[in-house]
Amino acid sequence: MLDGKVVLITGASRGIGKAIALLAAENHAHVLINYNKDEKSAAELVDMLHEKSLSASMIKADVSSEDEVKDMFSSIKEKHSKLDVLVNNAGIMRNSLLALTNTELFDHTIDVNLKGTFLCTRYATNIMRKQRSGKVINISSIVGLQGSEGQTVYSASKAAVIGFTRSAAKELGRYGITVNAIAPGLIDTDLIKDMKPDIKDKILSSISLGRIGTPEDVAKVVLFLSSDLANYVSGSVIAVDGCQTL
Ligand code: NAP
Repeated sequence: MLDGKVVLITGASRGIGKAIALLAAENHAHVLINYNKDEKSAAELVDMLHEKSLSASMIKADVSSEDEVKDMFSSIKEKHSKLDVLVNNAGIMRNSLLALTNTELFDHTIDVNLKGTFLCTRYATNIMRKQRSGKVINISSIVGLQGSEGQTVYSASKAAVIGFTRSAAKELGRYGITVNAIAPGLIDTDLIKDMKPDIKDKILSSISLGRIGTPEDVAKVVLFLSSDLANYVSGSVIAVDGCQTL
């Protein structure tokens, strides 16, 4: 479905990003695996894809650093001369009740989740505008739609990503660029490994499909949005949550 496409996935060393990279590579894209700290996992993923004769390379950048993001996109332009798909997946989640939330946590969360999405989209669409095509997929969260106790800052960052997505979609459509967001529900990754079992059970009881999501559940929707099947889809927010939010 993605033959010959160059696809950059931020935060692809593990979790949802890794599943997105794997599925895109299996669908014949050249995947660029961005990582920040976890070089070992990113390298293992690239090796695993190469062993399957799939096309992949890794690229380091902290998405919250403009200098590093700028360098990442310069290197993509130099090596590949194009970028077909950007998946803004890198994200952090630190739970904290509002009264206990300090500005450091606020700044760090907004820097990675929102500023990172903004920076990568801006530099990616500099390339995409010139080629007059491209797809940007932002990984938000259902808490950005409905809020969540103990997650004021995280939900604010994810709600902002939705506003950003809709505005960028309106602005960039004229260049043939689509911009969409995915709002995952509870997905089984490292991000939720410290969640207390009683909270997990409570969430589980509110999911119609009766199970926690997998990274592959999200990756399949990213594949659709990355492909020509979604050429007329832009400015949308697709929940991948087993019908938790209704
Ligand atoms: P994860 O397993 O914790 O993985 C997070 C990824 O983000 C890692 O690859 C990490 O790379 C990368 N990352 C973090 N800070 C970064 C930075 N400054 N620059 C570049 N990469 C950075 O999380 P996940 O569950 O897969 O989450 C992926 C996305 O889905 C996030 O945006 C998250 O908010 C969203 N989401 C997750 C869930 C869920 O239930 N899991 C639900 C809704 C939305 P390094 O280790 O190399 O730093």
